[in-house]
Amino acid sequence: MTYYTVCHDCGYKLLKASDGSEIEIYCPKCKVKMLIEIKDGKIIIQKILADKT
Ligand SMILES: [Zn+2]
Repeated sequence: MTYYTVCHDCGYKLLKASDGSEIEIYCPKCKVKMLIEIKDGKIIIQKILADKT
């Protein structure tokens, strides 16, 4: 089974991934990097905060 991962902030469709995946992706709209984990049918999205000057 594949899941569509969507950015929580802007709703941008990021990618399709299957259960057990762990992917690092960049949202072009929010310009934010995030880590997507799919575990037991649950999609967990964590933002990776990069230091910017
Ligand atoms: Zn976004």
